[in-house]
Amino acid sequence: MSAGVVCHVGLGGNVGDAAAVLRHALVALDGLPQTRLLRASRLYATPAWGVRDQPDFINAVAAIETSLPPHGLLQALLALERQSGRQRAADGSDRWGPRTLDLDILLYGDSRIDTPDLRVPHPHLHERAFALVPLTELDPDIVIPGVGLASTALAALTASASGDGRHDDIKPLD
Ligand code: AMP
Repeated sequence: MSAGVVCHVGLGGNVGDAAAVLRHALVALDGLPQTRLLRASRLYATPAWGVRDQPDFINAVAAIETSLPPHGLLQALLALERQSGRQRAADGSDRWGPRTLDLDILLYGDSRIDTPDLRVPHPHLHERAFALVPLTELDPDIVIPGVGLASTALAALTASASGDGRHDDIKPLD
């Protein structure tokens, strides 16, 4: 594979053995065409938000190198979600509900993309501690294009407790 773009993918799930689903997804990311897994964060247990009466989420971030274009990567991630058995309600009513596997493109190199079906950096990345904690574990100095240092965004969240600021509730599994 010729040198690709370093991308960060957010992984989450809270159905069944979510930790096993995420570990399997990391292997699957490494198996995508023109793609290899560079590093993965630890798995973190995160209290569910949006809809509260559901199991904790397990979250992680993977750094991958890929030569897939952004929309090609998105389609590949959506296919992996489908393979994991995730069902979506046609009306979107399950948006905050249990999900087997959720994969988001958090960062695609230093690109900024704003299309109807793909926005990168992920528009909520800077306000979600469950994504920022594993992202900064992988790279404490990583910059979110248009936002700034991810570590600064995380510190601001923790200080204001706005958005998903429950930083202290996010625990590594091991
Ligand atoms: P959700 O499952 O709620 O995360 O929404 C998935 C949909 O969000 C996908 O079908 C994409 O079209 C759209 N989307 C927009 N930006 C992104 C992104 N950065 N990563 C993944 N999905 C995205």
